[in-house]
Amino acid sequence: MHKQALLPSSGQLESLETTIFIWLLTTMKVVVKNWHAIAQWKWDTGNNDADEGDVEGDVCGICRVPYEGCCPTCKMPGDDCPLIWGECSHVFHMHCLLKWIGTAASKQQCPMDRRPWVTAERKVDPS
Ligand SMILES: [Zn+2]
Ligand SMILES: [Zn+2]
Ligand SMILES: [Zn+2]
Repeated sequence: MHKQALLPSSGQLESLETTIFIWLLTTMKVVVKNWHAIAQWKWDTGNNDADEGDVEGDVCGICRVPYEGCCPTCKMPGDDCPLIWGECSHVFHMHCLLKWIGTAASKQQCPMDRRPWVTAERKVDPS
């Protein structure tokens, strides 16, 4: 009995292994979850018609960077570089559009169709 008490019981070893196993599972779960979130991230531009066949339909008309990316002045896409919708149904990075509207050449018009730019009442829902 006395000799047995000096050695770690099999029960203790098992619980250590279980702890490591659970830790691994938890860590992997977090990694997979994050990857999933990044892979699924996409602005809802309302232009998800695959039948349109317009390969440039999902890029900002000003900087030609996809909406999922950010404008040239930003480093991180997402809430810090939002999109802006116009009444004419065109979508741009807000920063690109504001920079464009700020130039005299723009005449406050949409750069795609030259109609007077009117910002549409549409908010990005970060669901
Ligand atoms: Zn842009
Ligand atoms: Zn930006
Ligand atoms: Zn337009």
